Amino acid sequence: MNCNWLSALPASARVSTYFLLQALLGSRIGRHWREFRAWTHLSPAELNRAVDQRLGALLTHASGAVPIYREGGLARWPGESAAGFLRRFPVLTRATVRERFAELVADSHREAITSPESVSRRRYDWIVVKTGGTTGVPTAVVHDAACRDAGRAGRLFSQQMCGFPLGTRYFRLWGSEQDLLQQRESTQRAVLRNLLGEVPLNAFRATEADLRRHLSTIFSHPRVHHLMAYVDAAASLASFVEDQHLVHPHFHSLMACAGTVTPEWRELLGRVFQTEVFDKYGSRECTDIACECSAHSGLHIYSPNVFVEVVDDLGQACPPGVTGRILVTLLHNFTFPLIRYEIGDMGTLAGPEHCPCGLAFPKIENVQGRKDDMLLTSDGMLITSGVVRHFVGVSLNRELIREWQLEQTGLDAFTFRYIPRQRGGLESNLRDLQTALKKAFGAGAEIQAQEVTEIPPSPSGKARWIINRMNQPTTT
Ligand SMILES: [Zn+2]
Repeated sequence: MNCNWLSALPASARVSTYFLLQALLGSRIGRHWREFRAWTHLSPAELNRAVDQRLGALLTHASGAVPIYREGGLARWPGESAAGFLRRFPVLTRATVRERFAELVADSHREAITSPESVSRRRYDWIVVKTGGTTGVPTAVVHDAACRDAGRAGRLFSQQMCGFPLGTRYFRLWGSEQDLLQQRESTQRAVLRNLLGEVPLNAFRATEADLRRHLSTIFSHPRVHHLMAYVDAAASLASFVEDQHLVHPHFHSLMACAGTVTPEWRELLGRVFQTEVFDKYGSRECTDIACECSAHSGLHIYSPNVFVEVVDDLGQACPPGVTGRILVTLLHNFTFPLIRYEIGDMGTLAGPEHCPCGLAFPKIENVQGRKDDMLLTSDGMLITSGVVRHFVGVSLNRELIREWQLEQTGLDAFTFRYIPRQRGGLESNLRDLQTALKKAFGAGAEIQAQEVTEIPPSPSGKARWIINRMNQPTTT
């Protein structure tokens, strides 16, 4: 059923129909959205109290009603802050979630949820969410109704942070196999998307024909001025427009999702699309976690929904400014509590300074991407994908090579995949790249060049420029 006509309705009509329809489906997103907005007006002291209360309630529930936490015999000490209590909980790794899935389910749902294959009898009660699994092994978690509604409210807030509040139409350059399948089978999703004013662009593939199709969709919607996108996909589109000397589409703002926004990409996106870029941080299993505000000096953590910590290799809290492993606690998911969940990203908390935008939510200074997005030099140093992109960028001739991907398969073994654009000069450009990469990884690095016709995306559908296939030990 084609329901695109819905997107032509006035914003106010779309918004009220959206909340009405959600309510009919059993969702309480309206309540969560009102509550989320109320939290944005809290002073720092009020916010601390509200977070303490919400986090404390979750931890007390988990330690009594969730087997994996009950066995630890954890109990809150008199006078202890919720954050202090939290620090006595173990770090929850993906491996633990996979191995002890059923023990993470609260007693109230023990009969209904026994494995990642379980299905809810009433559709809105809870749902099993599988992560893309950048390492190839998907992890399944459960989101209950409150978690899903809070997550959706968080996403509406992300749009507001990025300059296109609820009701404003936007393009969504997105794609994962799972999303695509869901879109194909669900009229409900299409209706909700149109009510939100979303114009989809499929980022699952990025062949030249796909990129041209995106541009034609964009130019056929001259009144849509905002873009929500996988940052890699947006950067691919921007490079394509520039390399092919095409007419540049312009956006008022761009929400960059699902990847690290490097300074190079921010500059590229700003230059090509004449747009303000907002870095948004989130994941499928943790929903939206944080987003940059108009001050562009860090990402505000979504305090109503998540509690974020940054810890070192020993699990000790890192002070602001010091990079460590990011741990996320979901505050609404009582059915399957994710407490101190190690999401796999490295990041840095910002200091407690007041943000000029006025929002009291604490900030993450930056997110440095996944450990498996980093590559290892022969002397054991981890270097980020941004640095690698820089090394490739300085010697890559984009007139000759359209797309590339670098994969590390061993300490000194790399595969450089590329899609050629022209033959003349290609050989010597590949030699320059070898030299640049050897500078980054050490003279012993072996770099195999491999010509391909398509760069395979990861299982989650994200284009990946840098892949580390070496088995890295996961610390707990
Ligand atoms: Zn701010």
